[in-house]
Amino acid sequence: MPPLKYLAGYPDHLQEQVRALIEQDRLGAILREKYGETHAVRNDKQLYEYTLQIKDRYLRKAEPLNKVVYDNRLQVVKHALGTHTTVSRVQGSRLKASREIRIATVFRDAPAEFLKMIVVHELAHLKESEHNKPFYQLCTHMAPDYYQLEFDLRLYLTHLDCGGGGT
Ligand SMILES: [Zn+2]
Repeated sequence: MPPLKYLAGYPDHLQEQVRALIEQDRLGAILREKYGETHAVRNDKQLYEYTLQIKDRYLRKAEPLNKVVYDNRLQVVKHALGTHTTVSRVQGSRLKASREIRIATVFRDAPAEFLKMIVVHELAHLKESEHNKPFYQLCTHMAPDYYQLEFDLRLYLTHLDCGGGGT
């Protein structure tokens, strides 16, 4: 079995449990049971609207978002499950900061809760660039079960990595 790269950094006993679930071919079923709900955010326009809804509800005062897109070149590794960038462009005589969020395409077919988790993560970066305490406070403000979702997302990605189908 390949190393569980999405779970690197978690305790060995936890990784062993996950390995056992994979070997017994049970991980997919467990995830399906827990995260059976799909979402209808199929394209960039819908993704932008979806993200804006969450932003308007929780981070109204954060700077405006110019663009939110699915990006199939994004590798889902480490913390970089999505990216958030500030692109500086010269517009006329003034420099305008343009906020952009890119979400790995794997989330288009992922369960609804995982899309929410990653969007919440990237929105929190509008205010906090580091993964620090205030950052995670923002995440749990927008998604109270954020920590569980992030861990389960890692399980989901591990499942896909081991050849499992989407849930
Ligand atoms: Zn991040």
